[in-house]
Amino acid sequence: MPREIRFYNTLSRRAEAFVPLEPGHVRIYTCGPTVYNFVHIGNLRTFLFEDVLRRTLKAFGFRVTQVMNLTDIDDKTIKGANAEGIGLREFTDRYAAAFFADIDTLGVERAEHYPRATDFVPQMVEIVRRLTERGHTYVLDGSTYFRIASFPAYGRLSGVRLDEVKSGARVDADEYEKEDVRDFVLWKAPKEGEPVWHTALGDGRPGWHIECSAMSMEYLGESFDIHTGAVDNIFPHHENEIAQSEGATGKPFVHTWLHAEHLVVEGQKMAKSLGNFFTLRDLLERGHDPLAIRYLLISVPYRQKLNFTFDGLHGAGAAIERIANTLRRLAHTPPATGEGSLAPVDVEAFLADFDDSLADDLNTARALAAFHTLLTRVNQALDAEGIPAAMRRRVDEAVARVATVLNVVPLVEAAGGDAEIDALIADRKAARAARDFARADAIRAKLTARGIVLEDTPHGTVWHRGK
Ligand code: AMP
Ligand code: ZN
Repeated sequence: MPREIRFYNTLSRRAEAFVPLEPGHVRIYTCGPTVYNFVHIGNLRTFLFEDVLRRTLKAFGFRVTQVMNLTDIDDKTIKGANAEGIGLREFTDRYAAAFFADIDTLGVERAEHYPRATDFVPQMVEIVRRLTERGHTYVLDGSTYFRIASFPAYGRLSGVRLDEVKSGARVDADEYEKEDVRDFVLWKAPKEGEPVWHTALGDGRPGWHIECSAMSMEYLGESFDIHTGAVDNIFPHHENEIAQSEGATGKPFVHTWLHAEHLVVEGQKMAKSLGNFFTLRDLLERGHDPLAIRYLLISVPYRQKLNFTFDGLHGAGAAIERIANTLRRLAHTPPATGEGSLAPVDVEAFLADFDDSLADDLNTARALAAFHTLLTRVNQALDAEGIPAAMRRRVDEAVARVATVLNVVPLVEAAGGDAEIDALIADRKAARAARDFARADAIRAKLTARGIVLEDTPHGTVWHRGK
């Protein structure tokens, strides 16, 4: 039996115990990137929330099938390809490849499927046909629209009010604001400079929203468990997905809707259109460690805004360094022969607290705090009587749990992994035994100059990097 987990469901506006429709198997759809540019770290925050979601569900014993689409046809991709005078596929291939490189750099586990919208046009046409059959559409000037007045549940997810809608008003743009609650476009009539598909709906191309209904239902069925995105997706994108999917099938589309809050900069959403964004590449060029970037982006629970600052990023780097130093110390300290100083309860309490935190709507901040408390206990034990081998294995299991679920554990050299440092430490020990303190100090200074700090403990000399 998988472990219980609770999620805040945007649709019900409550925290709920999560139960998948098919026992033990969680089907997730996540709105993926629009491949018209490099993604920024705001987008990556959302993709990392989805990574922690899938890793947690798997660690809790569920099987996961996750689909993340690539939006390779919409207003923005068409505009970008035209501006460069190249084909849509060539243009979007470039940014799709960059996207995969970025998520790999940040240690995101791959989803099971990454469909591209342009490969699913027949499925979109079929949904529009079913919608038409059920009286949800109308055609005007060669474009097909969804009539929102035909779907009484419209607004249930986002809370927009249908009674304030001007009847018959339409929008053709893929992205629009809440003030524009209107009939939206499913299929767009051909336009100069836009790609064209010849279909039963006439010539034209799909609107953005229908793409996600088609790709999610193709892979996950007409009803599935979890749909994710950031809060800007709630309206109109996800509201429209529900209307299209339920309008076509007559069945509930998604059980649990999870939405990540934004990454903000000085209170404003990080966005391409505002020009206040950093890509992952920008931060790597400035010398930041991908692991620190990952740590920062998952350190705030996903339903809270995360204010991006370089101070915050340095703080995340220091946290990674602390983890590395503790693990190095642990690796370089021989096991205690006696009982040692780490109470079993400290490790067990950590494991319980870590899992409880994640089961509580993915509270990553609390999970990380629990991990740092464990590291403090480990350091205290190493300062005192040390840690015996059996206990050491339990600590390794605890660290492995963090690595599996949050993936913020740096690799450290195993004991003896740095032969040169170990040789210098042995020389220093010999010098001290011979009471040649000048030579012992010189060796220590040489190591300090290389950023290696020595600590003489009751169990011998151990080393770590840093201050
Ligand atoms: P897009 O490529 O614009 O379709 O965005 C990809 C994903 O990133 C979507 O789920 C967006 O909602 C999300 N997103 C966009 N801006 C931000 C931000 N500043 N913080 C967090 N997520 C964002
Ligand atoms: Zn989507």
